[in-house]
Parts: sequence; structure tokens; C-alpha cells
Amino acid sequence: MLKIIDLTTGYGPVEVLHDVNLDFKDSRIVTVLGANGAGKSTLIKTISGILKPWKGSILFDGKDISRMSTSQIAKMGIVHVPEGRHIFPNLTVRENLLLGGYFRSDKENKETLDQVLKLFPALKERINQKGGNLSGGEQQMLAIARGLMAKPRLLLLDEPSLGLAPILVSEIFQTVKSLAQQEGVQVLLVEQNARKALDISDTGYVMVLGRIVLSGTSDELRENPEVRKLYLGGQ
Ligand code: ATP
Repeated sequence: MLKIIDLTTGYGPVEVLHDVNLDFKDSRIVTVLGANGAGKSTLIKTISGILKPWKGSILFDGKDISRMSTSQIAKMGIVHVPEGRHIFPNLTVRENLLLGGYFRSDKENKETLDQVLKLFPALKERINQKGGNLSGGEQQMLAIARGLMAKPRLLLLDEPSLGLAPILVSEIFQTVKSLAQQEGVQVLLVEQNARKALDISDTGYVMVLGRIVLSGTSDELRENPEVRKLYLGGQ
């Protein structure tokens, strides 16, 4: 379970996150909403260890992971699926997937591959094709599926809906939801697509200029007039 306490960090001399607090409690899926530049990716990068905190702590199952290396954090079961897919275009779908489980045994990877392909049947059909030949939506699925090959306990998803057609966004979000429900994976979802993200989340946080300004259950946030005006198109 993830708990972030008074987290402050930034780039060079510039402070970007200011005293951020976030607590998963019993939530399966938690969304962080915020406009461009609010600091959502910075938050995810700090949890996965790419960026070090200046102040504060990040607890995972009660253990402070904030000073651990990225590989130690990955081995604890925290997997980061970055914004923009980053799949290997010249490798096949199978090769891309196996890279996600690089620190696990061949036997473990074979079992996990079968499970992951059940969740993403479109990838199964294209298992021997080059990653670069997949559509944008399929590449996003491949990026998430590759993250799952590491058997994460916590999946950090940075803008999985970016640049995708609405129908594909719904498909990806439904897969994320079933992952959380059936596989027991916890998911931290960072999104500009507020409506779809809140639909599958238990709780949410709103980030403005590196600060958490609001938090609550997804229902509470959906009903909140400010959230409706700023993130749900006033509906
Ligand atoms: P987006 O959805 O546009 O990615 P975001 O909420 O994820 O937005 P961040 O990418 O975390 O926002 O950026 C937060 C702030 O940090 C912005 O002002 C951005 O310019 C700055 N920033 C991000 N990456 C770097 C970097 N590598 N070096 C310096 N400043 C950065």
C-alpha cells in the first residue's frame, strides 16, 4: 500500500512538487487529475525512483522507498508505465513483453505471458509482429502489458489515454479496471481524461501547480463544482 508524506522535489533549482500527501488506504485505483504541467509525471517519476525527493517520504507497505534505486523499487513490485508508450519498434510483441519480465525466470515469464495475453487478446493475435507496426492503441496496450510482465503490486500509469481515440481509451480503462479487480493490482493513474479516469477509480486527488488541492472518493470529486467546471467540461 502506497502512502506519500510531505513530498517535495523538483529539477535543478526549481521546486515542482510542494508537500504532496497521498494515501491509498484501501483503494484499488487512485487517480491524480491535473492540467498540463501540474506535476503529475514528476510525482510518478519520484515514486519509481527516477527523481529523488528533496524532502518527505514515500512508504510502500510501511517501508520508506524514497531513497532506494529504481531497480530496488521495481523489485518491490512497483512498475512504471511512462507517458508516450516507449515500446521497442524493431522488436516483436513477444520480445517487448519478455523484456518486462527481465529479472524473472523463463518459467515464470511463460506463465505470466499466458495470463497477460488473456487480458490483451489483440496482442496475442500480433505476437510475432514488430512493435512499431502496431496501431497507437495497441502500442499503449503493449506498454501496459509489458509492465504487467513484472507482476507488479503497484502499477504507475502515466496518461495511458494520451492521443488515443475515445473507444480505445474506454477499452484500455476497462482492462485496467479488471486488472485491479481480478488480479489485485493497485493502480496509480495520472490523467487529463478526468471523466473516464474517475469512472474506474475509487479515490482521486486534484493537483494544481505541484500541490494537492482536493481529494475524495471518485463520487465526491465528480459532484464537486470546481472539478466539474475545470476537469469535466462543466457537466
Ligand atoms: P503533462 O501532462 O504536460 O506531462 P504533468 O502534470 O505531468 O504535465 P510534469 O511533467 O510533472 O507535469 O511537469 C511539472 C513541471 O515540471 C512543469 O513546469 C515542467 O516544465 C517541469 N519539468 C518537467 N520535467 C522537467 C525536467 N526534466 N527539467 C526541468 N523541468 C521539468
